[in-house]
Amino acid sequence: MDLLVVGAGLFGLTVAERAAEAGLRVTVVDRRDHLGGNAWSSVDEATGIEVHRYGSHIFHTSNERVWRYVRRFTAFTDYRHHVFSTHAGTVYPLPINLGTLNQFFGTAMGPDAARALVAEHAAEVDAATAANLEEKAVSLIGRPLYEAFVRGYTAKQWQTDPRELPASVISRLPVRYTYDARYFSDTYEGLPADGYGPWFEAMASHPRIDVRLGVDFLDPAQPLSKAAARGQVPIVYTGPVDRYFDHHHGPLGWRTLDLETEVLPVRDFQGTSVMNYADLDVPWTRVHEFRHFHPEREDRHAQDRTVVMRETSRAAGPDDEPYYPVATPHDRARLQEYRALAADEPGVHFGGRLGSYLYLDMHMAIASALSLWDSGVVVDAR
Ligand code: UDP
Repeated sequence: MDLLVVGAGLFGLTVAERAAEAGLRVTVVDRRDHLGGNAWSSVDEATGIEVHRYGSHIFHTSNERVWRYVRRFTAFTDYRHHVFSTHAGTVYPLPINLGTLNQFFGTAMGPDAARALVAEHAAEVDAATAANLEEKAVSLIGRPLYEAFVRGYTAKQWQTDPRELPASVISRLPVRYTYDARYFSDTYEGLPADGYGPWFEAMASHPRIDVRLGVDFLDPAQPLSKAAARGQVPIVYTGPVDRYFDHHHGPLGWRTLDLETEVLPVRDFQGTSVMNYADLDVPWTRVHEFRHFHPEREDRHAQDRTVVMRETSRAAGPDDEPYYPVATPHDRARLQEYRALAADEPGVHFGGRLGSYLYLDMHMAIASALSLWDSGVVVDAR
């Protein structure tokens, strides 16, 4: 073995694939019994519907290199993501666009009038100095829209004062003064044509890659544990950075999701793949309905049943799967302490959403893995 990759998510698989292609013998371990981390999906046998087991994942990128890279392993459909939000008994399109604005204010504004109205509402916060989620959101959309579409959803998703959350979280959602209601603004978008599983299997199928599932690197009883491998072989670690160091500086804040999957006896439950619930009277943040991700497979889907998943969010305890870094100012200070420990950890490179404590999308995890590989530090450590 020339390289040990801990975690078979997109960051780990990308580094493993690049290293194997360059001639290294790579072992990939993952605690779970499948590849792909939280992007994993599998087909529900009863309905023939591919279910994203950890919530909806849609691939999108504007990075030419990432787009070229991922298509070595899978083709992508032409799926374009659209999201709706239910607020006060009415359904609105997201991200906030001219359609949302006119529906919400009961107007027939054109782009300039809409811009002027939102600017008037947003004037209470200076966009240049907006330092947290609440200020950033109000500076972009004004308080009435913030209170309708962001405050309740964000309270359910993060259970953290929105003034403690990074502004970057809300910058994920564009505001558009056109009727373009595409959720993502990236150049390229789609779903893996044969499903996420075959994509990840194609990445891991290199003859120099040995995948061991169900292996917990942090369990000292395992032969491929941290205790056994550290200092013996270069390691790329993509698990939670605080867990690697046994929470030496205290735990970082993570959110986990409770995902409740149900097969309903109707063909179509909500008419779209993702419905957000903006208000606090509904406990879940959103409902996923997976058949809508693959209209091209309708002949393979059950016609009398559908698969839905209700998503609720809560603080991750020590035994929960971490999904989202909370990144309050307190967490970010602690992260600097972990980064200092990580920099001193010989031959170990930290990456991915959990290893870097960054809210990375799939394409960002791949881009950052390609950069790590290109930097040469992984091979130099050999
Ligand atoms: N958000 C919101 N209302 C919505 C959807 C999103 O306020 O209906 C905010 C919320 O704070 C959320 C953030 O925007 O955490 C990012 O949302 P996104 O859909 O990008 O999150 P993901 O799909 O990664 O969970």
